[in-house]
Amino acid sequence: MNHKGATNGRSLSEGNPQKIRVLMYHRIVDAIGLSIGYPRQCLHVNEFRRHLTFLERWGFTAITFEDYRLFQAGELNLPKKPVILTFDDGYQDTYELAFPVLREFGMRAVVFVVGDRGLKESVWDQPAILPTAPLMTGEQILELHRAGFEIGSHSLTHERLPSLSREKAWEEISRSRELLEILLNAPVLSFAFPYGESNETTKKMLLDAGYTIGCATYTGPPTFGSDPFEIRRTLVPSATETFGMGVRTLLPFGYYSWLRWKAKVVFTNARMMASGDGEVEAEPVLEGVNLAEKS
Ligand SMILES: [Zn+2]
Repeated sequence: MNHKGATNGRSLSEGNPQKIRVLMYHRIVDAIGLSIGYPRQCLHVNEFRRHLTFLERWGFTAITFEDYRLFQAGELNLPKKPVILTFDDGYQDTYELAFPVLREFGMRAVVFVVGDRGLKESVWDQPAILPTAPLMTGEQILELHRAGFEIGSHSLTHERLPSLSREKAWEEISRSRELLEILLNAPVLSFAFPYGESNETTKKMLLDAGYTIGCATYTGPPTFGSDPFEIRRTLVPSATETFGMGVRTLLPFGYYSWLRWKAKVVFTNARMMASGDGEVEAEPVLEGVNLAEKS
């Protein structure tokens, strides 16, 4: 454990960043039909409230990537069980439905929005996959920011960055940061790759553009922080019961991936969940999940 910059008897930089879990959400909805029809993209607000209840009961504290940056700088301790709640795309329901519930629980989140403020709805959502939905206004984004939420960039127009020319990819990455910083009058340091698609070139561009964090979806090392520009996140789909939530948040990430891969395994021992806070050695991470999901 690090001990530096002791203040008032407390040592700063305490905590284990490897324990940071990053959850990924898209839309929070109040129409049951959407959460049933699109369980990976849409979560009913009542279910979302159950997620937060679970996190609260198990002692998780919601932090942001900015908190992690301050931890790295020796200016902030990490809580015992840190979790980062991320929302992609900047849907209006993030503001209207998720924000009030998060506030109820005293939790903050990281919201990734597109930099092109001319985009009023999620034109990138294909109707066959997910109906388009209104995006937050600049004022709503500002309100989240004022409430302590971290606003990150989700590119300029939600293109698949590795498919673009170098110039266009750079514009999506760097220009979106500039525009969001003008909106917020504050630094924007985190980025989420649209569709979770990145490569070494676009990851390097994040660094050059001044970001310190790049979020992937289902790729990246299982240990938080090993690759700050390819942070792996965990999706919690609709109809995930308490046990599924426990597997996703309490087990070490390597275990979670392994269990997911071994989907046929029958779990009979609830103690496995409780061991998540212990130093269980991570199993090798086996890919094999559907990488083509939206983000
Ligand atoms: Zn997205």
